[in-house]
Amino acid sequence: MIIVLKPGTTEEQAAAIQRRIEELGCKPLCMPGTERVVLGALGDERVLAQLRLEGHPHVESVKPILSPYKLVSREFHSHDTTVDIGGVVVGGERLVVIAGPCSVESYEQFDATARAVREAGGHALRGGAFKPRTSPYSFQGLGHEGLKILERVGAETALPTVTEVVEGADVAAVAEHANVLQIGARNMQNYRLLQAAGESGKPIVLKRGFSAELEELLLAAEYVHDRGNPNIILCERGIRTFCSATRNTLDLNAVPWLKARSHLPVIVDPSHGTGLRELVIPMARAAVACGADGLLVEVHCDPSRAWSDGQQSLYPAQFDELMRGLRPFAEAAGRSL
Ligand code: PEP
Ligand code: MN
Repeated sequence: MIIVLKPGTTEEQAAAIQRRIEELGCKPLCMPGTERVVLGALGDERVLAQLRLEGHPHVESVKPILSPYKLVSREFHSHDTTVDIGGVVVGGERLVVIAGPCSVESYEQFDATARAVREAGGHALRGGAFKPRTSPYSFQGLGHEGLKILERVGAETALPTVTEVVEGADVAAVAEHANVLQIGARNMQNYRLLQAAGESGKPIVLKRGFSAELEELLLAAEYVHDRGNPNIILCERGIRTFCSATRNTLDLNAVPWLKARSHLPVIVDPSHGTGLRELVIPMARAAVACGADGLLVEVHCDPSRAWSDGQQSLYPAQFDELMRGLRPFAEAAGRSL
């Protein structure tokens, strides 16, 4: 529930209310504003009702948070959240494009791709070092060696880096080498991993599971926020449908739906969302037109030799074309690029 305190309420009086919330086994939160203090109380609304705060002398109004997700909901926090990913802000006025290969394969491959991304105007680098592959026989990533390459190339190109973490035990190592931790579609409901990512305090790109409801995605984000980390970027990356023409069906409904209900930034991955290189540019444009805060795109210096996801990776020239063609779509959506 959201508790708006009357102007002039002192810190001690606000703290006393927070103590009563805690005594009921619920979680109090304090959001001091310029004019008045707003308190949050997380827990069972029926239990909280016992406090009868409507009649409290320092309380102006009480509003229940009706959605099952609280911290990530707009009811709780009406303004857009911006996430700083190493000097690049996601969720602000500027559209952010994060690009790079599916996997970090070697210094030469990652460096060549990163330079192409930077030259075309990309804002951040992606590249997997730990790959959660559907088959145990597919390339699983370079692991720690990949993290070192990612960090080195990120520093050399002065671009922030995004890379996936697949288990809680790896969070600290990945957090040491990358600016942003990606939680992949296959791990969206790995709650212990979400909590560990939350505890790291690092910015998180949280991808929607391919069979996940949007409400489940927001509840997954709630696990991260609940561990004290509000730096979450939601990512729509396509879902399973009856349509087998494409790898996934990119659910762009998710963008306005999520943005209406949550204050978190939403980015779109048209690479995994379609699985086909020729669909990436049109779907990237559509994502920007419907209000996405950014894009996550696979680019490879030589897609025909890629160790993973080559068929959906853009050639450097195509990434350049994507960046050039995005501007009018960004402007139509009220953003700069
Ligand atoms: C990826 O970004 O390379 C990836 C594995 O994505 P997803 O988790 O969306 O399949
Ligand atoms: Mn991939």
